[in-house]
This record gives sequence, C-alpha cells and structure tokens, in this order.
Amino acid sequence: MAPNSLEEYRKKRDFGRTPEPSGAERRLSEQPVFVIQKHDASNLHYDFRLQVDDVLKSWAVPKGPSADPSVKRLAIHTEDHPLDYADFEGVIPEGEYGAGTVLVWDRGSYRNLKQDEEEPKPISQQIEDGHVTIWLDGQKIAGGYALIRTGSGDDARWLLLKMDDEKADARRNPTSTEPKSVLSGRAIEEIAQQEKAKDE
Ligand code: MN
Repeated sequence: MAPNSLEEYRKKRDFGRTPEPSGAERRLSEQPVFVIQKHDASNLHYDFRLQVDDVLKSWAVPKGPSADPSVKRLAIHTEDHPLDYADFEGVIPEGEYGAGTVLVWDRGSYRNLKQDEEEPKPISQQIEDGHVTIWLDGQKIAGGYALIRTGSGDDARWLLLKMDDEKADARRNPTSTEPKSVLSGRAIEEIAQQEKAKDE
C-alpha cells in the first residue's frame, strides 16, 4: 500500500472547514469493515467502502446496493478514504468537496470470498484485477456481492451485483424501505436539520 494513498482525499478537502476526518488516526480491527454511506450531494448516491489494509477503498453507487441477484448497479471508483471515515455522519458545508449530508446507511464486517481458495487472492489484488467477491455482514445488506470492472482507462466502470445465495431476495428493496442511519437512527433530513441547528 502506497503511503500517500490518501493524498487525493486530503487534497480535495479543507479540514478547517469540513467536519470530515483527515485520517490522522490509524485504527486496525481484526475483521475488515465495510460501510455504505448515503450521501445527499449534488446527486444523491451511496458510497460503498471496503477496508483494505489501512484505508477504505471506495465506490459511488448512484442507486445503492440491491438484494436482487438479477439487478446490476453501476459503481464509480472514487478516491481512498481514511478508516475513521466509516464513522462519519454529518454535513459537508457548501463550497467544500462533496457538499451535502452524509448518513451511515449500513455497516458491518466483511470476508474475502477468495481467501479460502487454494490460491488465496487478497482484496487489493482483486481490485487490481477488476473482479472482487466478498461476503457482507451488515444490518441491512448481507451475503455475497461482486464488484466487476468493465471497460478500461477513462471508460472503466464497475458493477455491483448481489450473488445468488441464501441472502438474495428479489422482493426486498432496502434503500427505500430502510432509509435510516444504523449509527444514529436518524433520517437524512434530521441529520441535515440537527447539524444546521448546531451552527446557529
Ligand atoms: Mn459521496
């Protein structure tokens, strides 16, 4: 892992203005974590982040994850975020990068589904290869998921897919039926209002 993998993240942000973490603190847990943050920015999207070594590898998923294995969700690879971003919920002020409200929509630990194979493949390698398979243990999202890269260079896009396993359920639509924060129980409007009230 390059020591400057958070350079792009830090360059985009003024930590005197945004409440987002600078990533100065390092924290390593036994089980790698994943987090899905609902981000009401200029375009509403869900940021899907996986702990890989000491950073959160990140994708912006406009429609969020699906529990239906027949659905493919577009995912755009974004810059690495610091580990403590997994706890971040709040408002990024106007004029700052990603201005808008962030809600911790789901969180949990995950497993690399290629770690028990004869030739185990680390997640960092799977990302490089454009084919990642993981098992998520979240409160809303669970089971096998795959992230698959299509195209290359500037045209590279990723797809987030639910694998067909016992956690697959085409009838569930958690992004609309379970919109609240798993961290605070708040709706996105409540976070926006409460953070605004703090500043007044
Ligand atoms: Mn975002």
